[in-house]
Amino acid sequence: MTGGSRGIGAATALRLARDGHDIALSYVHDEGAAARVADAVLAAGARCTVLRADTSQEADVERMFDEAVDRIGPLTGLVNNAGVTSALGPLAEASTEDLRRVVDVNVLGVLLCCRRAARDMSAAGAGAIVNLSSAAATLGSPGDYVHYAASKAAVDTLTLGLAKELGPAGVRVNAVAPGIIDTEIHAASGAPDRAAQAGPGIPLRRPGSADEVAAAIAWLLSDDAAYTTGTVVRVAGGR
Ligand code: NAP
Repeated sequence: MTGGSRGIGAATALRLARDGHDIALSYVHDEGAAARVADAVLAAGARCTVLRADTSQEADVERMFDEAVDRIGPLTGLVNNAGVTSALGPLAEASTEDLRRVVDVNVLGVLLCCRRAARDMSAAGAGAIVNLSSAAATLGSPGDYVHYAASKAAVDTLTLGLAKELGPAGVRVNAVAPGIIDTEIHAASGAPDRAAQAGPGIPLRRPGSADEVAAAIAWLLSDDAAYTTGTVVRVAGGR
């Protein structure tokens, strides 16, 4: 689980622990938050280890996988949850630094983690990967962050291609595309109240919760989804 210190990642770590998975979770900045999630995972009866690793850095990714396997055991599932946005606004006003960071974390980071999982899981002849896309991938996010939307469209495409590459090896690859979910990610775009404010414009008339996204991720990792690969499950309240 990449990016397990809060939000969808934290909810997913807990949900997967309750489903019987042992968990390796990563973070970049907030060690204390990651440690609190790990305590909750342990309290749910699973084994858990916490790793500091920036998914956009190849050396961090390789070390993260090596240490996760050493501490927890062979890799059976991967949730590529780590993702970033940047300040809301039209592309014309976006900084090159923000464009680069969003692409580095949301595209390169997912590719680096998928590449390592592809190697390990293919060798084992089994495994499941779930990538965090976004409803933005098909909505385009005009005026908000078209670069973020484009990065998530890349996630959809790499999910489809990798599912076809790895299917013969017994490895499934899927994505979950959340709509507007009530997490701290919106504060990073300068709009901490975005989820609450968006509610009336969503067909189901409310933002989603991290637990509702975690449920879809858990299903895709489970044997109930044994014949599901190369798909994007939209959890977006009708958006
Ligand atoms: P969040 O609350 O901002 O949490 C992001 C998590 O990712 C944190 O644990 C953060 O850890 C970690 N992270 C960030 N950059 C990282 C990096 N380079 N390497 C490793 N970990 C990193 O976000 P969220 O709302 O839960 O979103 C999770 C995923 O769902 C993202 O991919 C996001 O794009 C996607 N999504 C969210 C929404 C939504 O409305 N919330 C909608 C659609 C899609 P640190 O704080 O320690 O850095």
